[in-house]
Amino acid sequence: MGASAKAIEAGKAALNSVQMYPDGGCYDLKNALAQTHGLSSEQFIVGNGSNEILELLGHAFVGKGDEVVMGQGAFIVYKLVTLLFGGTPVEVPTKNHFHDLRGMREAVTDRTRIVFLASPDNPSGSANAPAEIIDLVESLPENVLFVLDEAYSEYQDKPVDLRPLIAAGRKVFCTRTFSKIYGLAGLRVGYGYGDSELVSLLNRTRAPFNVNSIALAAARAALEDQEFVESCRIANVAGLRQFEKAADSLNLEYIPSSANFITLNVGDGKAAFEAMQRDGVIVRPLAPYGMGEWVRITIGTQEQNDRALESLTSFLSQECE
Ligand SMILES: *Cc1c(COP(=O)(O)O)cnc(C)c1O
Repeated sequence: MGASAKAIEAGKAALNSVQMYPDGGCYDLKNALAQTHGLSSEQFIVGNGSNEILELLGHAFVGKGDEVVMGQGAFIVYKLVTLLFGGTPVEVPTKNHFHDLRGMREAVTDRTRIVFLASPDNPSGSANAPAEIIDLVESLPENVLFVLDEAYSEYQDKPVDLRPLIAAGRKVFCTRTFSKIYGLAGLRVGYGYGDSELVSLLNRTRAPFNVNSIALAAARAALEDQEFVESCRIANVAGLRQFEKAADSLNLEYIPSSANFITLNVGDGKAAFEAMQRDGVIVRPLAPYGMGEWVRITIGTQEQNDRALESLTSFLSQECE
C-alpha cells in the first residue's frame, strides 16, 4: 500500500533542513500523538522504531537475575532484549497458537520484572481478547511492568484499550510503530506511551537525537492522514479474506489473523520459501520460531496476493508429485 502521499511530501520537505539537528524532544510529534490518543505529551516517548523502545525497556528494567515473561514463539525481540541485559526469558507455551495469558500469569515470580505481550502477535497474527488482557494486567503484582506491543493494533476493529489502566496507576506501557499500517518502516520511527514518570525514566536511557528529522516530519503528516490508514485497514481485511478463501480451497491450515499477514501450514516452510523466492515472492519461513511447517505471508495488493497465491499453489502441486 506504500505510505501516505502527505507523509512522503513532508519527508521530502524536511530534507531541505538536514543541516539542522532534529528536535531531540520530538515536540511536534508528541503533541500530535497526545491529541490522537487523548493523553498528555509527557506520556509519550518516540524511538528509532518501536524496536528501540523495547530495548530501552530492557535498559531501564532488566538486569542479571531478572526474569521476563513472554509467550513461546512471541515476537523474538523480547527474548533478545532480555538476554542482552543479562536477564532470563521465561517462555510460556501457547495454546492453539494463542498466547496463554493464565499460563503467563502463573509464570510470574518474585524475580519477574516485565511481562511482554504483542496483540496481535507476530508471527502468528493471533490476538488475545481485550477482556482477557485486562484481567491479566489487573492480576499482576504491583512491581511487575506489563508491556503491550501494539504494532498491529491499527488493523483491528476493536483493539484493547489500556489507557484507563494507565490512568488508574497500573504499571502498563504500550508501544506502537509507524512501520506497519503507516508504511514508513524504512524511516524507523515508533513510540511508546504510559505513565509520565515511567516515560521520563526511559527518556534517560536513550541517545539525545534518536529520531531523525525526516522521520519526525513524515510520521506527523502520516498521523494526520487517517483516511490513508482507513483505506489500508479495509484493503487488509479484503486481502486476509482472499488468503483464507484460497487456504480453504487448498486445504491448508492457517492461524486466524488480526494483523497484516497470514501464517499458513504449507508442510515444509523452508522449501516453500525457497520455491516462492525463485518466483520473486518473499515469504517468511518460521523454523526459527519452532514452526518448521509454516510460512508467514504479508498481505499485499490484490495483484500481489494473486501472484503470491499462484506461486504457493505451484509449489504445493510440485510437492505432491
Ligand atoms: C514490526 C514489529 C515491531 C517493531 O517495529 P519497528 O519497525 O521497530 O517500529 C515491534 N513489535 C512487533 C510485534 C512487530 O511485528
